[in-house]
Amino acid sequence: MIEQSILEITSALSRANKIVVVPHKGPDGDAIGSSLGIYHFLKDKGHEVTVIAPNDFPQFLKWLPGSEDILIYENQKDHCDQLIDAAEIVFTLDFNMLERSGDMEVPLRETQATFIMIDHHPEPSDYADHTYSDATMSSTCQMVYKFIQKLRAVKQITPSIATCLYTGIMTDTGSFRYRSTSAETHMVIADLIEKGADNTTIHQNVYDTFSQNRLQLLGVALQNLRVNKELRTAYITLSQEELDRYNFQKGDTEGFVNYGLALEGVIFAVIFIEHKVEGLIKMSLRSKGTFSVNKFARAHFHGGGHLNAAGGKSNLSLEDTVTKFNTLLPEYREELAI
Ligand code: 5GP
Ligand code: MN
Repeated sequence: MIEQSILEITSALSRANKIVVVPHKGPDGDAIGSSLGIYHFLKDKGHEVTVIAPNDFPQFLKWLPGSEDILIYENQKDHCDQLIDAAEIVFTLDFNMLERSGDMEVPLRETQATFIMIDHHPEPSDYADHTYSDATMSSTCQMVYKFIQKLRAVKQITPSIATCLYTGIMTDTGSFRYRSTSAETHMVIADLIEKGADNTTIHQNVYDTFSQNRLQLLGVALQNLRVNKELRTAYITLSQEELDRYNFQKGDTEGFVNYGLALEGVIFAVIFIEHKVEGLIKMSLRSKGTFSVNKFARAHFHGGGHLNAAGGKSNLSLEDTVTKFNTLLPEYREELAI
């Protein structure tokens, strides 16, 4: 982001009162953490700020300071449409194309607001007036820290902001272990702890709050694990019936896909989750090294994401989706087999 943009943003912020902050659909820790980080920062400065999420977010994020103030677009469209229409500035956080805001795309395209995108996904589209995009960043939360730094306002980071930003960096880096974790990430984290983020409590709130049902659903997922040793690939399926049996709640399957990568030798892991109501199969894809799940998801499953973490979907049945996947795999033999 160039200095000129920062000057223009500073000036736009000084004029604007009504601000709307938008995370992507199916918001995760980074999307909610960055949105709430910006929310507290701007609210403390006296702006009228609303975070509007396209749909609901997982229970394990509902302790975050300010999470109780988040509006869910799906649940109150008319009120949210008015807020979007009246907004002078819209921040879009943790996504690179407006389609990722789900049904909010329509009102977002119509509003006259100035758009500021902060995001770390590759290949950003150009809907925003100010695009702060950096695919080398661990997380959007790390970028929000840097954004605040560029505004020369690091001293204004409160314990609430620090807690939200720490959470998103932690969840998007798999607790500081993915390749995207840099020395700078740790320096930002160090400062956030100094500014009041309580790392032990945050880890416990996010990772140690499983329900018995959720832990047992993980057991089912692990039983369903299939491995293609030759192509170093592992995948898990969860049917609607299995989800129902364990009273599935939003967020319950978060992190399950990573167990495939815990297998020695496996570099590509996928989870297929059946959503009967929406009539589709949702996929999470993860990889190690240079195999791009972003490209794979974009090419075959209407999705995308990052090099090593992406999402996608399929309109086929669960069985047919898995068959399609298994048929595609050999096309990637050169990248997957040793
Ligand atoms: P997850 O598997 O955790 O849902 O998503 C992993 C990554 O892929 C996240 O960065 C997320 O934003 C991105 N992602 C998930 N689903 C989609 C999708 O349908 N389209 C695109 N472009 N990115 C996605
Ligand atoms: Mn992210």
